[in-house]
Amino acid sequence: MREFALIDRLAARLASRRPDTRIGIGDDAALIAPPAGEELTITTDTLIAGRHFPHDTPARDVGYKAVAVNLSDLAAMGATPAWITIALAAPALEAQWCDAFVDGACDAIGASAVDIVGGDTTRGDLSITITAIGHLPVGTALRRSAAQAGDLIAVTGTLGDAAHGLRRWPMRARATADERYCISRLARPQWRDGAALRGIAHAAIDVSDGLLADLGHVLAASACGARVDVDALPASAALRRCTAREPRREYQLTGGDDYELCITLAPEALDRARAALDCPLTVIGEIEAETGLRLFDAHGSSVCASGPGGWDHFHGY
Ligand SMILES: [Mg+2]
Repeated sequence: MREFALIDRLAARLASRRPDTRIGIGDDAALIAPPAGEELTITTDTLIAGRHFPHDTPARDVGYKAVAVNLSDLAAMGATPAWITIALAAPALEAQWCDAFVDGACDAIGASAVDIVGGDTTRGDLSITITAIGHLPVGTALRRSAAQAGDLIAVTGTLGDAAHGLRRWPMRARATADERYCISRLARPQWRDGAALRGIAHAAIDVSDGLLADLGHVLAASACGARVDVDALPASAALRRCTAREPRREYQLTGGDDYELCITLAPEALDRARAALDCPLTVIGEIEAETGLRLFDAHGSSVCASGPGGWDHFHGY
């Protein structure tokens, strides 16, 4: 298969949704016209086989996840996604694999008006680098540094499924229905509509490395602290059925790959945020002026707090 055939395939499927794509694939570089009065936000992410997804992941899931994780980063800025470029290294480019990869990329984009405006393919170990560009009105980005004492902390969807899915991946041939659900959340994370939260949320981040790590980034950038109720963390019915409380808590606090949004917002903005989203939004805690992250259970007992050595109990698994 010709090296640029994959890009041709992507272009044929995704290249012409937007009038503000002046030149997409087909020249030395793309030419895009940002909407008047808006600024662009740009993110790039590399997925490497064996590190970011299991080697035996189906091509369709690889294509899906590579796109979804980048669109999730745009969502965490509150941006409307608009353009992507794809650079793919693969040992061999088989037509069947490419078609499945393109199908997955299209699945992740869904009905969003996202054009692919560039790409490159090379021979090498399997890795995918995607750059995604979004736009938003000037000054409306949801920044990590914008959390304020008194804000509620809330997360979309459910946490912990992907971490459990990763655990069960090697045994997936014998997986129960609940385990298959968790595995599907790992393979095909749902990126959220962060643009709907512009003007409603203060700070936002997507949960890619685990709630503690990612909320920690918000607290550091905002120079504040938080208390989180670990019993309030939203868990899917599937995860509840197939895990005991302790491992579930660890998945929810430290497991990555869920790609849910963790936001902070004023208490009076909660109803608007829930109305703006097409998924559940669960309050899990509160931003406090005192730095540090303090974890409590539903009875108000301290579970764990961050210290200079990091997390004593919830450190990896
Ligand atoms: Mg992110």
